Amino acid sequence: MHPRNPYRNPPDFLALSEFYPPLKPHILLTPKGPTIDFKNEVSQRLLTEAILLRDFKLKIELPSDRLCPPVPNRLNYILWLQDVVDTTALALGEDAARPVFGVDIGTGASAIYPLLGCRTRTNWFFTATEVDELSYEAACRNVQANALLGRITVVRADPTGPLLTPLLASDAQYHFTMCNPPFYGSRDEVLQSAEAKELEPNAVCTGADVEMITPGGEAGFVCRMVEESLTLRERCRWFTSMLGKMSSLTRIVQLLRDNKIDNYAISELVQGQTRRWVIAWSFQDVRLPDGLGRLTHSGMQHLMPARNTLHQGITQKGPSEPVATIVRSILSSIDGLALQDIAAAKQSDKLDVIASAEANTWSRAARRKKRNAMDVESMITGAPQLTCRVRYQEATQGAKHVAQTSSELIFDWLRGTDRGMFEGFASHVERKLIARLSDAGSREQ
Ligand code: SAH
Repeated sequence: MHPRNPYRNPPDFLALSEFYPPLKPHILLTPKGPTIDFKNEVSQRLLTEAILLRDFKLKIELPSDRLCPPVPNRLNYILWLQDVVDTTALALGEDAARPVFGVDIGTGASAIYPLLGCRTRTNWFFTATEVDELSYEAACRNVQANALLGRITVVRADPTGPLLTPLLASDAQYHFTMCNPPFYGSRDEVLQSAEAKELEPNAVCTGADVEMITPGGEAGFVCRMVEESLTLRERCRWFTSMLGKMSSLTRIVQLLRDNKIDNYAISELVQGQTRRWVIAWSFQDVRLPDGLGRLTHSGMQHLMPARNTLHQGITQKGPSEPVATIVRSILSSIDGLALQDIAAAKQSDKLDVIASAEANTWSRAARRKKRNAMDVESMITGAPQLTCRVRYQEATQGAKHVAQTSSELIFDWLRGTDRGMFEGFASHVERKLIARLSDAGSREQ
């Protein structure tokens, strides 16, 4: 579950039903405490309505024969997207308050993603698509009922046409696309899956066929989005989708790799018994740190993108200047490297900076060029070729009673297309730091 998701524990059903009386008759008193029957679709709908109203001031209408979105799971995707959008702004040096434009493919009757996105971020705007007429109309009413017509536009989509229509309709630049695709490939698949789940205490699925079934299932749907993105490319910063099956992830990663898209990210959304994944891919040069874009489970390593976060353990023998001060002075001594402190990290013993280089001035080859009297200026092309976040984290555990302190220097690759340049930069800084620390250590002896 996302660390900012407040639904870590089940809600206090009694308090919620006090706030939203229509839920009251659906409260079940069990030995484990009050709850609701998650297999009862009316109870489930009322729960979603109650949570949206109490926690997000959202008043929504959910038609009885359409999907009822569980809020905690939908919020997980929105929170992860917030992190992706924020990290991208940091990498590009953009104001966090700038307007952000997103697209939701298949918004459903609830229009849950645009509503949650706009309520949790005041600078977000959405275009949402929907093929099903009944859902389209309900989505429009939900947007209107919450006075969000100025920020959310719902458009009808053609089931035989492209999926990413809002990007085709204008030249606007989008920050992200998102999607919770129809899951199944056929009615048979729905039935088989319902049978398989009968024994589990899973929530009922009230979805209509159009919501749940698409040719090729979710993998087919998202593969179509990947294909469409190949011509849209930089028009959107991050193309993303939720996925429910590991096999879909395998197919989509293969398609991305076949198309030489190495800038992609995979994260996991876990809520109770439900495990979902989100995948994002981009044709731009902003990179996501591993915490947002890579999973550590051993069984999935073959699907993961290359690392964008490098950790270097630092062992400090004996007293020296604070490591943060040394690293800062190493970074300052690199020609053409611009440094910007991340808010509130300016103390001398802490380090959290964004380093941007317009050219590689630190590699052996670059230093040789410089010795040959070439001016650094001539290597500089204008746009940053590498942006990375450099942090120093002092070890906290056990540091007091051991003679050595083991801490970490962390490099996040935020921007660039040359992985070798990022890795070379990190190892250059590490080598210099080790040399400085061992100098200090030997002076001590
Ligand atoms: N976003 C909602 C609904 C997801 S269900 C939620 O998370 O709860 C998938 C939705 O995609 C359905 O509403 C379905 O009608 C819609 N859909 C299916 N094919 C589509 C297409 N080609 N273009 C746009 N929407 C589509």
